[in-house]
Amino acid sequence: MKLNKRIQKINGLLIKYYGIPERNSRIPDPVDMLIGTILSQNTNDKNSFQAYKNLKKRFPSNEEIYKARRISIEKEIRIAGLGLQKSKAIKELVSGLMKKYGRISLDNIIHKANTEILDELTSFNGVGLKTASCVLLFALDRDICPVDTHVHRTLNRIGIVKQKTPDKTFNALHEDFPKGIAHSFHTNLIRLGREICKPSNPVCTKCPLFKICGFEPKNLKSSVLPTGSSFMLLDHI
Ligand code: SF4
Repeated sequence: MKLNKRIQKINGLLIKYYGIPERNSRIPDPVDMLIGTILSQNTNDKNSFQAYKNLKKRFPSNEEIYKARRISIEKEIRIAGLGLQKSKAIKELVSGLMKKYGRISLDNIIHKANTEILDELTSFNGVGLKTASCVLLFALDRDICPVDTHVHRTLNRIGIVKQKTPDKTFNALHEDFPKGIAHSFHTNLIRLGREICKPSNPVCTKCPLFKICGFEPKNLKSSVLPTGSSFMLLDHI
């Protein structure tokens, strides 16, 4: 089966199991999305969302973030961890935007093709392919599926790609990615990776992709699925 059809098959099975994920009714500002994605690294949705809210409460506009001292930003985002690195990345981002475009906005590039936007965004310090592709999916509604550690692990276990890093998985996936399913595919795969296809001891017996997954040996011991929220930070910015 071709890659495009296999992705659609997985998407259909995940929707049958989890439903169609809710989307933010308001399209977020692309710069807010970049900041939110930087804050989301190496922490959970709850803490990164709280850090985002703290930051926006103290500095409501991006211009205020631009003028703020790095240490003041670090104070507001401490709950998300890695305060030094993340505050530096945020400062470098807003400074880089100002230097390159004369304002803290992506208006100059949002009408470009996906690959051009990815190239532009990843040219900023601290913005990797995952962060840039989150902007394309969540803020610009493009047919792009960001690949984080969960998406990378599950897709390689299933066997639709065979790649060593999330960035290589991203490139392989987008050689033939179907139109119109990126948000549900990405969001449901992350949920699968957090709840079922976990890094160790995947709960294969409860997995909706069991029949089409090529991972061997599957874990056939039954296990209790975690309960809780499927809150996704990037749909709440
Ligand atoms: S069957 Fe097991 S290894 Fe395959 S996707 Fe499901 S949980 Fe992951």
